[in-house]
Amino acid sequence: MKRDVREFWNERVRGLAPYTPGEQPRDQRFIKLNTNENPYPPSPLVVEAVKQAADDRLRLYPDPECWELREAAAERFGVQPEQVFVGNGSDEILAFAFGAFFADKILFPDVTYSFYPVYARLWDVPFERPLLNDDFSINPGDYTKDAPHTGVVFPNPNAPTGRSMDVPTVLSIVKARKDSVVIVDEAYAAFSKENLSVARFVTANPNLLTIHTLSKFASLAGLRVGFAIGDENLIEGLRRMRDSFNSYTVDRLAQAGAAAVMKDRAYYEYVIRKVVDTRERVSTVLSSRGFEVIPSDANFLFVRCPSRKGEDFFAYLRERGILTRRFNENRIADFLRVSIGTDSDMDIFLEACRE
Ligand SMILES: *Cc1c(COP(=O)(O)O)cnc(C)c1O
Repeated sequence: MKRDVREFWNERVRGLAPYTPGEQPRDQRFIKLNTNENPYPPSPLVVEAVKQAADDRLRLYPDPECWELREAAAERFGVQPEQVFVGNGSDEILAFAFGAFFADKILFPDVTYSFYPVYARLWDVPFERPLLNDDFSINPGDYTKDAPHTGVVFPNPNAPTGRSMDVPTVLSIVKARKDSVVIVDEAYAAFSKENLSVARFVTANPNLLTIHTLSKFASLAGLRVGFAIGDENLIEGLRRMRDSFNSYTVDRLAQAGAAAVMKDRAYYEYVIRKVVDTRERVSTVLSSRGFEVIPSDANFLFVRCPSRKGEDFFAYLRERGILTRRFNENRIADFLRVSIGTDSDMDIFLEACRE
């Protein structure tokens, strides 16, 4: 009989509760509305920059400090390069940040990005999950109560609901928690109606760390680049974590491509507008047909079908070649998260929802 080598797993690996990523089918027959990728290609400048970087220099390690990219991002966000950290996707930065800045307790909503409890367990940080209101909005009062040394993390807009909080409300949480780090995960902020990002307030609020990704708005989920923006010494904390694992988390091609994103604002404004217009159109049609649609500021909709259980709605769409994401948790089991695709993808989705 074959030996069960799980006996080599130590206590640590036995105790892990890993995240389950959305399905990435190996063939192309699906309309992929399940992982919030951008349906449009990255800027041609980005593709060109990656090609230009693919030469003999690949024998050399990349710049561990990612200076060119940090300078470009700093300029874009109106901060100093020392206030920018670059990581292999924002998930990596979140993992470092949970390990670096939280100890006693963390708060995050009951319905939110499902990687947060994974990181909290990984680093053994106790967490509490205040319930969202019935309309899936965050109750800011849950995060401003006096509770010393309690960190906070939430996405704005929230995932998978798509609902956002306005800037003054986010800042009220940051200011109420001066003795701990507040992480605002801005993965979807580029798709919001107003400028929701609080990155420009990091200098005035040294406990604020904002997290950004190129996976969604910049159509670069395959390149794996994210940023954090915050006080120089928060950035130094992240660097200490990183250099205790792997100093070269962002490769040469990724650094070159990501820097080019910052140079093509016009293209990305155009792509973001298209996604937002499609979102609004699909949302209106679904609502008019009796679907419950949570108002979204992101590149996805959180949708409940009036006549089917979430499980059945998900399976029905899958049979028709449409992949969506469902989270099998109490309050949201009947909802599907549907990423915004091209107009023709969404027409096929809407047609399937008609039946
Ligand atoms: C997609 C997503 C991320 C991860 O982005 P990567 O940069 O691809 O790792 C982080 N936070 C939220 C809320 C997301 O939805």
